[in-house]
Amino acid sequence: METLKRALRKSSPEKFRLLTDLVETSIDGTRDIFVNRPLNMSQIHYIGFDMDYTLAIYNKHAIEELAFVITLEKLVELKSYPAEIMELTYHDDRIIRGLLIDYQKGNLIKINRFKQVCRVQHGTQDLETSVYFNDKIDQSDPLRFSSVDTLFSLPEAYLYVLLVDLVENKVLNDRSYTQIYEDIRYCIDMTHRDGSLKSDILRDIGKYVYKDPHLSLTLDKLRESDKKLFLLTNSEYYYTDMIMEYLLDTDSLHYSSWRDYFEIVIVNARKPGFFKENTPFYRVDEVTHEETLMDEASFDRKGIYSKGNYIAFEKLIQAKGNEVLYIGDHIFGDVMRSDKDSNWRTVLVVQELEDELSVTAEVREKYQRLRRLSNKWDKLHYELHIFSSQLNTLQNLELSLRELTPAESKALEKTREELEEGIKRCHKEMEKTETKVHNLRQEISSQYHPVWGPLFHDGDEISRFGDQVRDYASLYTSRVSNFFFYPIDRYYKSLRDIMPHDRWLELSN
Ligand code: IMP
Ligand code: MG
Repeated sequence: METLKRALRKSSPEKFRLLTDLVETSIDGTRDIFVNRPLNMSQIHYIGFDMDYTLAIYNKHAIEELAFVITLEKLVELKSYPAEIMELTYHDDRIIRGLLIDYQKGNLIKINRFKQVCRVQHGTQDLETSVYFNDKIDQSDPLRFSSVDTLFSLPEAYLYVLLVDLVENKVLNDRSYTQIYEDIRYCIDMTHRDGSLKSDILRDIGKYVYKDPHLSLTLDKLRESDKKLFLLTNSEYYYTDMIMEYLLDTDSLHYSSWRDYFEIVIVNARKPGFFKENTPFYRVDEVTHEETLMDEASFDRKGIYSKGNYIAFEKLIQAKGNEVLYIGDHIFGDVMRSDKDSNWRTVLVVQELEDELSVTAEVREKYQRLRRLSNKWDKLHYELHIFSSQLNTLQNLELSLRELTPAESKALEKTREELEEGIKRCHKEMEKTETKVHNLRQEISSQYHPVWGPLFHDGDEISRFGDQVRDYASLYTSRVSNFFFYPIDRYYKSLRDIMPHDRWLELSN
């Protein structure tokens, strides 16, 4: 192989690149595939893909800033916001997925899996979590919370934060926190629906969409292993066609068009409705893009369909739910509903995973230090307990022993002093250790994100986002092309599921 590589490197850089792509077998660990529930790929016959943020990886800053600016324009035009909001600028590093917008209070919050509020911001100001003391967080309450659960939601959350600041600065003092949220939602929804965002993206696809060099190779490999692929996206056909063409057409070894990769293409699928409603399928005319109600008898595998539902789909392809794997980026739209309602197996694409894991590698030594400090605190606490109970015993002894010789009194006094000294020392050391733990925790957390900390955790707890990933996705990984680096019919096995008591030997050492 090395001889061939050397020859190609000289004669044809293009062929050399292709060869190295094909023979590459290992990748950096941040692109691993992680397993929540065992999945035997040899039992999967159909693999479905979501498009946006799954097959199509967007350039984060470019697309978010574009959505932000168009939404600002719409707020001024359609909702009479003052033109000065057009001066607001977008920062793509202020919001993370999994947060909740509390639009009654004008806050953004991060909660853990026990629904405890871990972090709060009002506008861009940090608030103490005590503002939620005794407040029961019902994240599904649509009159109070909206969840930042896709990467598409990041610009609207940041815009909300900035407009709440403007309410506090009296620039928008005639609008309530809820009103502002509803206005932003209306305008960003329009931005997606009226084509304004998409037409700008299509005008300069290369600026907005990252072309993953391993994507076509991955799809080729899946097809070579007899998997049947389908595309199931909420995007419209005109948009899907152009994005998929950009991603696949010029890259393919075997096919002349992106369409050749997929048995069936379903656009405008209205997920999560696709998994819980009974909407019929429509056939899309590829030239006029007109949609006509599909007649089941006319179903053919190379057609383009719109809307539909999973029950009709399974009937058309004659597959059982557990033979279908669906890969998407949206916990609620793609993964939770398909897992809950349809029995399809699921993979969640979490683009942020690569950065998150890089930080975890960087802070590894700090985590070890944190663990040592926490062990030290536990030992001190135990020592304190021993000293205190001995002191208590001593006091009881003193009461029951009526007459003591001077030597006995002296010895008792000395012991008391030693115990009191020990207690003082423990308190002092514990306080010092607590400060160190607190500072180190903050240092670690802000390495992930200065305001919101890690995506999947908060302190020692799993975050709401982490909990959802764990509950609903069989597998999760940062990109579709990570499958290229694994055997296609792999049996993905989960790590042994452990309970706290399973670690008692490890912890007691
Ligand atoms: P998918 O991820 O391929 O299923 O497609 C997501 C589609 O949802 C894209 O066409 C987005 O433009 C669209 N979308 C994302 N957010 C919104 C929204 O808030 N309102 C309407 N459409 C949206
Ligand atoms: Mg998507």
